[in-house]
Amino acid sequence: MSIITTVSASYEASRARSRELEAELRRDPGRFRVLTGDRPTGPLHVGHLFGTLANRVRLQDLGVDVMVLVADYQTITDRESPASLPADVLGLIADYLAVGIDPDRATIFAHSQVEPLNQLMLPFLSLVSVAEVSRNPTVKDEFASAGGAAMSALMFTYPVHQAADILFCHANLVPVGSDQLPHIELTRTIARRFNDRYSPEQPYFPEPDGLLSDAPLILGMDGGKMSKSRGNAIALSASDDETAQLIRTARTDTERQITYEPDRRPEISNLVLLAALCLERAPEDVAAQVGAAGAAGLKQLLTEALNERLRPLRQRRRELADDPAYLSGVLAAGTDRAREIAATTLGEVRELMHNDY
Ligand code: ATP
Ligand code: MG
Repeated sequence: MSIITTVSASYEASRARSRELEAELRRDPGRFRVLTGDRPTGPLHVGHLFGTLANRVRLQDLGVDVMVLVADYQTITDRESPASLPADVLGLIADYLAVGIDPDRATIFAHSQVEPLNQLMLPFLSLVSVAEVSRNPTVKDEFASAGGAAMSALMFTYPVHQAADILFCHANLVPVGSDQLPHIELTRTIARRFNDRYSPEQPYFPEPDGLLSDAPLILGMDGGKMSKSRGNAIALSASDDETAQLIRTARTDTERQITYEPDRRPEISNLVLLAALCLERAPEDVAAQVGAAGAAGLKQLLTEALNERLRPLRQRRRELADDPAYLSGVLAAGTDRAREIAATTLGEVRELMHNDY
């Protein structure tokens, strides 16, 4: 009971803090640097669009400095680095640009290319204990599902690597889902301990805030979380026909009348929600409109709404995919900028740690 109370109290505190941050973002966007990113493990999908990409574009357009990380080293936490990686990374960049991330304002980079960022992980590892990392919920879950023995040490230390991703550029804001709040807590701990040990007069690293999003969790066509690696996703890059085909296979239920009841009817409600997000209408209204037309009517409405919503984005994405040299150039420019920032940070860290000889 007390644990539940504590968890919900800290969640409530994070919610309240996020509301304050939203107000501050509107007042003074230039004060913020945001770090977000993705593993290049497959094409981005409509769950990403509504769950995170739209929010990144919103922050960018508010005037926030947005850093977008292609977390390629995180792909080798649980698999080999595939030969398709260069193409996967360019595909990810095409997805980013197609949704509206603007390379003139945002910085897109891959962390394997930013050497001084990775070097920061060494001093950071010295600031946390094995016991603390073991308590991280994602690490605990991975350990449990890998049966312990098969989990790589890189997976074990990945929350510390993530701290390096965030702190190398002094990001002070990280958009997250509630499940990721413990990661931010570990990054804050590392920042605080570094400051206490090596820069007590004037804190060197910021303690970043998590910005909780109200974004919905989009389910895949099988009723589980829509996910790149579960084969249940509608990729942003899918064709109109592929989209129609995927929606045709979506799980529904046996009730004829369409309603929006996420708890009682998750699969139907997910399709209603997706249509509502595309049409920028309330899900209840969309459900009422479909009504007795049932699941077939709902799927038809969703197919049209989603293909319509994604049409300009897909057009842009096709043009971008035809120009891999441009995509590589965007990545190279972002990487140069990230490297410069990381080199400055590492130089200052060396000085603070008396490593400047
Ligand atoms: P993987 O299968 O490789 O884990 P994924 O599809 O789960 O891929 P991630 O790269 O793990 O995608 O997700 C990155 C971020 O995208 C998440 O933190 C979350 O904010 C958002 N996201 C991913 N899937 C969804 C979804 N189905 N609904 C809403 N948001 C999502
Ligand atoms: Mg995932």
